[in-house]
Amino acid sequence: MNIILLGPPGAGKGTQANILIKKFGIPQISTGDILRRAVKDQTPMGVKAKAFMDSGALVPDEVVVGIVGERLVQADCAAGFILDGFPRTVAQADALKSMLISNGKSIEHVLSIEVNRDELLQRITGRRTCRGCGRGYHIVFDPPKSAGKCDECGNELYQRDDDSEATMAKRLSVYDEQTAPLVSYYGNENLLRRIPGMGSIDEIQSAILGVLEGGCR
Ligand code: ADP
Ligand code: ADP
Ligand code: ZN
Repeated sequence: MNIILLGPPGAGKGTQANILIKKFGIPQISTGDILRRAVKDQTPMGVKAKAFMDSGALVPDEVVVGIVGERLVQADCAAGFILDGFPRTVAQADALKSMLISNGKSIEHVLSIEVNRDELLQRITGRRTCRGCGRGYHIVFDPPKSAGKCDECGNELYQRDDDSEATMAKRLSVYDEQTAPLVSYYGNENLLRRIPGMGSIDEIQSAILGVLEGGCR
C-alpha cells in the first residue's frame, strides 16, 4: 500500500497519516518532520533548510528528493508507505516516479484532501506540535488529554514558527503556484482520489478508508 497525501498546509495530512500508520502498520514519510528534526539537530541540511522553512518557501527539490530517496529504500517501507508533504513540485513528482521505477515500486493512490481557506487558517493557527514525536494537535479541534503535553510520548507541545497568520499567506501562495499543479498531474495518471476535507477527523478518516478499501474510486 503506497500512498501519497496531497493537500495544502493544514489540510490534515499529518493527522490522517498518524491514524493510517497505526491501522496498517506502514510508516509515514513526512519531509516536514524530517526537515524539522534536522533543523533541531543543526545538521548541515537543517542549517541550510531553516531559512526556507521559516519564510514559508519550499526547500530546494534536490534536498527533499535526497531525503525521500534514502528513506524509501529502508526495510520498513517494503510493505508500503505514506508520503506526507512530498512531492510538492512537478520536479519532485518526476523524481519520485524515477525512484519508484528503479526500486520496482509504484503509487496506488494519491489522496487529495480538499479544505477551504478559512478553515485552513483556523487549523494552522491552532495547531500545536510535539517536540518529541512530531504529532500534531489542535487547541480546539483535537486537544491533547493533558494540556500542553503529547498523549503519545509525553513531550511538550509547541507552536511551529511557520504556523503564524503572516507566514500562512506565503505558504498558501506557494501551494497554489508550485503544488496545486500536482492535482492534474496525478489526475492524468489516474491516481487522484479527491477527499472532501471539511468534516471531522473521523469523517475524513472514513472517506479515506472508503477509497483504500474500495480499490479505485
Ligand atoms: P504542512 O504540514 O503545514 O503542510 P510541512 O511540515 O509538510 O508543512 O512542511 C513545512 C515546511 O517544510 C514547508 O513549508 C517547506 O519549507 C518544507 N518542506 C516540507 N516538505 C517539503 C517538500 N516536499 N519540498 C520542499 N519543501 C518542503
Ligand atoms: P497538514 O499535515 O496537512 O499540514 P495537520 O494534520 O497537521 O495538517 O492538521 C492541521 C491542524 O488541523 C492540526 O492542528 C490538526 O489537529 C487539525 N485538524 C486536522 N484535521 C482536522 C479536522 N478534520 N477538523 C478539524 N481540525 C483538524
Ligand atoms: Zn509526542
